[in-house]
Amino acid sequence: MSENGQPRIGVFVCQCGANIADKVNVAEVAEFASKLDNVTFAAEYKFMCSDPGQDLIRKSIKEHNLNRVIVASCSPLMHEPTFRGVTAEGELNPFYFQMTNIREQVSWVTKDPEAATKKAKALISASVRRVALHEALEKKEVPVRPEVLIVGGGIAGIHAALTYANSGKKVYLVEKEASIGGHMSMLDKTFPTLDCSACILTPKMSDVGKHPNIELLTWSEVKEISGYVGNFEVTINKKARYIDVDKCNGCGMCWECCPTTITPSQRTIKKGDLTIKTVLKEN
Ligand SMILES: Cc1cc2nc3c(=O)[nH]c(=O)nc-3n(C[C@H](O)[C@H](O)[C@H](O)COP(=O)(O)OP(=O)(O)OC[C@H]3O[C@@H](n4cnc5c(N)ncnc54)[C@H](O)[C@@H]3O)c2cc1C
Repeated sequence: MSENGQPRIGVFVCQCGANIADKVNVAEVAEFASKLDNVTFAAEYKFMCSDPGQDLIRKSIKEHNLNRVIVASCSPLMHEPTFRGVTAEGELNPFYFQMTNIREQVSWVTKDPEAATKKAKALISASVRRVALHEALEKKEVPVRPEVLIVGGGIAGIHAALTYANSGKKVYLVEKEASIGGHMSMLDKTFPTLDCSACILTPKMSDVGKHPNIELLTWSEVKEISGYVGNFEVTINKKARYIDVDKCNGCGMCWECCPTTITPSQRTIKKGDLTIKTVLKEN
């Protein structure tokens, strides 16, 4: 059992005017919820997000000694912060709140009222099971690494890299091929304007190459990603180049006599077929 004792759950079902009540039998759903395990109190109301609706939740927390709150209403995007706030005002940790979306995910998308009511009941049952397992959480701030890793140096990756780098962020751009450019570098003109593809792409490729905020890792692939948002650790496999990188001027002549089988020798578009592929040099 989670902390804060045996769950005493309050379920508050919102009519959202006609938005939910026209499709879902809200009274029946509230009655159903009141009989679920660990549910101490269940009620319905016209607009749970209104001041009287919020008052009902705050008062019920006190009157029924609730330690968990569920509101079955709209999308969490819309009112989760509202109801977390109400839960906190009822002197509960706001993370003892769970929202059930019976508007966007039920009444607005279900034709048959009976099916909508059944689905609302199922979602509320799931929320009741879930909220019983909630734990009190505290918000905390942790430092984040602001660098950006972009995988793939096609036009999308190039543009993203330049945008981030120009805004002052350090960017690692990882490209598995020997050069950035992607598909666009293989096109002559681009539909619909028939602009010269290289005229658009080449200056951007060059900007990437000399941008002080961009570390370009070509002929490289991401091997492993660990960590979490803001604190990722990424292992990148830089493939062998068989050349002295400091002396290389990109003339490509070494490709002609390279003794390995893994150096790309050319890229082609097969005739009569739109497949673009990297042709590997054969020994
Ligand atoms: C034959 C053809 C004609 C086209 N004509 C037009 C047109 O006329 N007009 C138009 O607007 N669009 C056209 N397109 C579409 C356009 O080329 C693409 O939408 C655009 O180039 C996609 O860019 P991108 O950066 O998203 O991907 P891509 O150009 O595919 O770039 C992806 C890059 O990521 C790299 N990569 C992939 N996986 C990894 C990995 N695991 N690790 C590291 N790097 C990786 C690839 O090597 C590549 O460099 C055409 C496409 C084709 C194939």
